[in-house]
Amino acid sequence: MTRSRWPGAGGTPPAIDPQRRRWLQALGAAPLLPAMAPPAVAAGALKTNARIVIAGSGLGGIAVASRLMKLLDGAQVTIVDARQQHYYQPGFTLVATGVWPVEKVRDPTADFIPAGVKWVPEMVAEFDPAANVVVTSGGQRIAYDYLVVATGLHLDYAQIEGMDVAAIGRNGLASVYAGPQAAEASWGALDSFRQKGGKAVMTLPAGPLKCAGAPLKITFMVADRLKQSGTLAASRIDFHTGLPTDTVFGVKVVNDDVLARWKALDIHNHYLSKLVAVDPAARKAVFASPEGQRESVDYDFLHVVPPMRAPDVVKKSDLAWKEGGFAPGGWLEVDKATLQHRRYKNVFGIGDINGTPRGKTAATVKKAAPVVAHNLVQVVAGAEPDARFDGYTSCPLIVREGSAMLIEFDYDGKLTPSLPMIDPLQESYLAWLMKVRMLKPAYVSVLKGRV
Ligand SMILES: Cc1cc2nc3c(=O)[nH]c(=O)nc-3n(C[C@H](O)[C@H](O)[C@H](O)COP(=O)(O)OP(=O)(O)OC[C@H]3O[C@@H](n4cnc5c(N)ncnc54)[C@H](O)[C@@H]3O)c2cc1C
Repeated sequence: MTRSRWPGAGGTPPAIDPQRRRWLQALGAAPLLPAMAPPAVAAGALKTNARIVIAGSGLGGIAVASRLMKLLDGAQVTIVDARQQHYYQPGFTLVATGVWPVEKVRDPTADFIPAGVKWVPEMVAEFDPAANVVVTSGGQRIAYDYLVVATGLHLDYAQIEGMDVAAIGRNGLASVYAGPQAAEASWGALDSFRQKGGKAVMTLPAGPLKCAGAPLKITFMVADRLKQSGTLAASRIDFHTGLPTDTVFGVKVVNDDVLARWKALDIHNHYLSKLVAVDPAARKAVFASPEGQRESVDYDFLHVVPPMRAPDVVKKSDLAWKEGGFAPGGWLEVDKATLQHRRYKNVFGIGDINGTPRGKTAATVKKAAPVVAHNLVQVVAGAEPDARFDGYTSCPLIVREGSAMLIEFDYDGKLTPSLPMIDPLQESYLAWLMKVRMLKPAYVSVLKGRV
């Protein structure tokens, strides 16, 4: 397997010129994603014996736990999650495109559970918010005074007939979302495909997605890997999306920029075209229009992005939205500013599970975790939650190896660059360096409640 880490160099990063170095130093001092000051440790901590249960040990769950341990003195904080390995998901696109080895995106969960927090290595099988209890997959009933829901979302591959996650990596089948092994296997499929080129079919469902930029990054990188291999001219890239005409991303200015770049790369877009079935052995994908017309497409390489929804345990509980746009996906019914549950005031939500507009990125968690921790402490203290989240979402949009755009925006889709000297739509090596070098350390700082 060929693994190219740096453009035109055998594994050695290019020298950084003095101006870039100054910029990087500036970024180190003012980290990539906007932060609230870390909470004061112990000195101002609120004394309490509150029982707090956190469902999920992903980025959101651990980031909130770390902060609560600093803000509260005496609370019993319990994290419930069976997953033994913590996944650094923003690295999956780098693994799936041959930039990173898979080891960089897996760490033991135990390494990140904050000191003093009890970890129950089981799943939540039932939420009973009326009784203030969660029931675990092992049958434990855990009572709480406060609950933080941080279960992330469910990748609904089952909606695609014939889709087999275990087949990713074989017969040109790829999907970056399914986990570290799938990301690594996807690179195997892409690496093999790029040798000769052929027909690449890329997909994007309508509906809420985590890192909605990832399907676009993969598409850019497929084009780039083909170009590097000298097989782009012999290839064709088709992008099918369930979204309406001329839409591949929810922020218009970014959307239009991506479409212009894809026009230059001769990428063919198909709108209102939803992946509904795949036959991996025959390399056929079936797309459906909203009217139900089906079209079968042959491919040499297929990138599958599954529809996403809340995990069943949330969707079927009384914590889910009961009406409105977030109800069909079963997303958590939180107030989009305070992230407090709209009906159960002792419940908060963090991360991908939240039924809020946009905001399913690690960057969102970075800015939302201090809000959730602060507001939960307010409620413990008998006060109203007064911190407000603006929907901050960020995505370093890779456009080719060695170049990316740093896209940041809020609930309203307004661009909110944290580094005003960088034009968000200006691709740069600096943004690429952030993606491959700086964002994982920043992510770990979020886990540890340092930023
Ligand atoms: C391919 C890809 C690329 C991405 N790129 C970027 C990027 O460039 N920038 C960026 O900012 N973000 C990116 N993201 C998004 C980012 O990784 C997520 O938004 C972030 O991890 C969300 O954190 P979370 O805590 O909500 O969910 P997760 O980190 O997914 O954690 C959820 C946890 O909940 C647990 N859980 C599930 N069900 C239960 C249950 N019933 N009981 C107990 N625990 C449960 C799971 O086991 C898991 O440990 C990317 C994601 C992917 C997949």
